[in-house]
Amino acid sequence: MALPRFSIVTGANKGIGLAITKALAASPDATVVLAARNPELGRAAVESLSSSVAGRVVFHQLDVTSASSIAGLAEAVAADAFGAGTALDALVCNAGWAAKGSAFTADIARQSLAVNAWGVRDCSRALLPSLRASAGGGQLVVVSSTAGNLNNLATDAPQRARLAATDLGQAELDRLGESFVNAVVSGDLKGWPRSAYGVSKMVATAQVRLLAREEAAAGSRVCVSACCPGYVRTDMTSNKGHLTPEQGADTPVWLASGGAGARSGEMWSERQPMDFVN
Ligand code: NDP
Repeated sequence: MALPRFSIVTGANKGIGLAITKALAASPDATVVLAARNPELGRAAVESLSSSVAGRVVFHQLDVTSASSIAGLAEAVAADAFGAGTALDALVCNAGWAAKGSAFTADIARQSLAVNAWGVRDCSRALLPSLRASAGGGQLVVVSSTAGNLNNLATDAPQRARLAATDLGQAELDRLGESFVNAVVSGDLKGWPRSAYGVSKMVATAQVRLLAREEAAAGSRVCVSACCPGYVRTDMTSNKGHLTPEQGADTPVWLASGGAGARSGEMWSERQPMDFVN
C-alpha cells in the first residue's frame, strides 16, 4: 500500500493531525497540505517538520467552521496552487474540538457540532470533486471517535434508528444535529446523551456513511471512512491517554493510503472495522 501522492490534513498544527501529516510526508514524492486555522501555528508546524520528512509539506489557512475559508482551500486545489496537480488523493478531516471540564451549555453544543460535524460535512463536500479526480480513486478519512458510536444512545432513542438508517439524507442529518442543540437550549434532552462531543461525533460518523452511499450511488470510486485514533495524549485529552500522537495517527494514515480497500462507509479502529450502530 502506497502513501497518497497529494493529501490534505485539517487541524494539522498539533496533536494527531501533525503526526498524520508527518507520516503522510514520509515519501519523497508526497505533497501534504498542513491546514490550520492559525497561520502562525501552522507555519511553525511546517517548520518543525522540515528536517524530518522526505516529502513536501505546505501550509494553508483553514478554519473548518468558515465557508469562505473552506472555499479558499478548494479553489487553491482546483487552481493547482500547491504544484501537485488538481487531483487530490486523500483528505483527512482531523480538526476537532472538545470542551474542557464538565460544562454542558448551548454554546458548547453549537461549537462541537460546528467543528466536528458540520466542519466535516463542508470540507468533504468542497473537496470531493478533487478527490473524484484521483487516479487511485480518492480517500476521504474522517477522524471521528468511538464516543460517537450509537451504543452511547439508549436503544429506544428515536435518534438512534435515524442516525443508523441507510436512507438518511443530508437535510435530515442536519435537522438531527440542530435538534440536539435545541434540546440543550430547552433543557429537555429528548433522548440525547449529555455529551456534546459524543453527539457531534455521532453526526460525523453518520455523515461518513451518508457520503459513502452518495458516492457509490453516483458511480464515484472515492472511499469514505471514519475512524477512532484511540485514547491519545494530546492537548484535547490534557495529555492523558495511553497512545502517542504517532500511534494515534496509524489508522488514519493507513486509511488515507487505501487500507479500507473497497469497504467504503465503515468505522475503523486499530485498522479493523467496528460496529457504529450496536
Ligand atoms: P488537539 O486538540 O491536539 O488538536 C485539534 C486540532 O484541531 C488543532 O489543530 C486545532 O487547532 C484544530 N481545530 C479546532 N477547531 C478548528 C477549526 N474551527 N478549524 C480548523 N482547525 C480546528 O486534538 P487531537 O489531536 O487529540 O484530536 C484530533 C482529532 O482526533 C479530533 O477530531 C479529535 O476529536 C479526535 N480524537 C482524539 C482522541 C484523543 O484521545 N486525543 C480520541 C478520539 C478522537 P488550534 O490549535 O488552532 O486549536
